[in-house]
Amino acid sequence: MKITDVTLRDGHQSLMATRLRTEDMVPILEKMDEVGFYSMEVWGGATFDACIRYLNEDPWERLRIIKKRIQKTPLKMLLRGQNLVGYRHYPDDIVEKFIEKAYKNGIDIFRIFDALNDIRNMEVPIKVAKKLGAHVQGDISYTTSPVHTIDQFVELAKKFEEIGCDSVGIKDMAGLLLPYDAKELIGRLKEEISLPIHLHSHCTSGIALFTFMTAIESGVDVVDCAVSSLSMGTSHPPVESVVAALKGTKYDTKLDMRLLNEIREYFDKIREKYKYLINPISERIDSRVLLYQVPGGMLSNLVSQLKEQGALDKFEEVLEEIPKVRADLGYPPLVTPTSQIVGTQAVMNVLTGERYKVITNEVVNYVKGLYGKPPAPINKELIRRALEDGEKPITCRPADLLEPEYDKVKRKAEEKGIVSKEEDILTYALYPHIAIKFLRGELKPEPIPEEKEVSKFMEIPTEYVIEVDGEAYEVRINPKYGTEMKKKKEEITVETEGAVTSPLRGMITKIKVKEGETVKKGDVILILEAMKMENPVESPVDGKVEKILVHEGQSVNVGDILMVIK
Ligand code: MN
Repeated sequence: MKITDVTLRDGHQSLMATRLRTEDMVPILEKMDEVGFYSMEVWGGATFDACIRYLNEDPWERLRIIKKRIQKTPLKMLLRGQNLVGYRHYPDDIVEKFIEKAYKNGIDIFRIFDALNDIRNMEVPIKVAKKLGAHVQGDISYTTSPVHTIDQFVELAKKFEEIGCDSVGIKDMAGLLLPYDAKELIGRLKEEISLPIHLHSHCTSGIALFTFMTAIESGVDVVDCAVSSLSMGTSHPPVESVVAALKGTKYDTKLDMRLLNEIREYFDKIREKYKYLINPISERIDSRVLLYQVPGGMLSNLVSQLKEQGALDKFEEVLEEIPKVRADLGYPPLVTPTSQIVGTQAVMNVLTGERYKVITNEVVNYVKGLYGKPPAPINKELIRRALEDGEKPITCRPADLLEPEYDKVKRKAEEKGIVSKEEDILTYALYPHIAIKFLRGELKPEPIPEEKEVSKFMEIPTEYVIEVDGEAYEVRINPKYGTEMKKKKEEITVETEGAVTSPLRGMITKIKVKEGETVKKGDVILILEAMKMENPVESPVDGKVEKILVHEGQSVNVGDILMVIK
């Protein structure tokens, strides 16, 4: 039995919000290289985004640093098909450049999946990576629903084989694969295709270790594990346990337990250092995933989204809403980006108190077919609400509608003076908003709280008096019910006539109207990026835009006045 170690990608992505820094990887890399893992997954998924957004680290530089120290073990990355490491489809020329650069900087194995298992979204990345000479793994996004069958997964694996993949992965991102379903699926794959089969699962539901056992007995070739310090919970089965369990059998991994123990000691300290990021919900077995199918990363994401919106008390309600939205969208597997699309729409439905009162741009695009073909038809009422009259979803491959972008992006990036190497153009192409600040060196890494501050972090005082424009306000923070602001002396509600307020906390990315312009009720007046999604804000009335109080790039809070429309 062979093991891929995923500690440096999915391990910290699942447990500590993808915040492990390169400086904390470097001291242990050479030792990890000695173990004899089949491969190490160290890049892709959310690591690219987190490097730039939170750590002020260049993801390309991280890859080069790792490659320099990991010389024997092949390096692997997770690639979201045509979405690369972003949240939307990129044109083929960007896909080609990105994979080329990832390969040149050190990736040996590309693990490629599509959230909808739509092969059309994987063909170009697979072809490009193959041509470069990389090992290409086609991944099945595993899920269960009334419309998913083992036959379909086997059919997809056959297509992977046909178009030249070197292995097939079962990507069980939420830990939903049951032991005897794994036995059947892997048995079928072994019979019907000749490629090695890899299994990737999570311990969220507590089932993964059982599933590993039946998978191993059914002939799976490689399993994904994390060092025990960063294993279990929403993360993966522990390397050491799998190695020990198979010792002396025909599945013996032959990995050195003493060496693994030294690595474990190192990561124990790392876990301690980053413990302020580990949500208690992510550490335990959460059997709710079996009901709601919410993958580990999505659970911790939801908690932080709701916290950000001051609505953590709505957590259970959102969990209940997720399967409904998922069914309406034709049962997409919940993995990036569909997990964010479904999750955020569920949050919106709950926060606004009405299902699809606000429909995110991403859901509109999903309904238009711009993410690919959903596993089952979309709810007709949702289609009616999301599309304009007479508008029809597309039937072609989504990226066929995208013009080549690379040269244009390159020119723009050069004009802005942010290019010091070719990879910077790709960083800008993928994350235009954040990349400018990052590449100009205007970002700082988020601080790691000192020991003392960590405890403060846990016990925040719940009452403050703050002063706004000379007036004293009493602010009470109640972790269960969000923040309440009360005026101390008397309660006055300030109401500006015609004020349009922000429904969410987020950043204004686009203002669609000008002062003096007339608008109709329902016209989109601006785009608010919140919870990584673009949320259109509509005019509540017919009228004239009297005043715009915000600018593009500005951060706003719930209730902030955005515009005055009379
Ligand atoms: Mn995963």
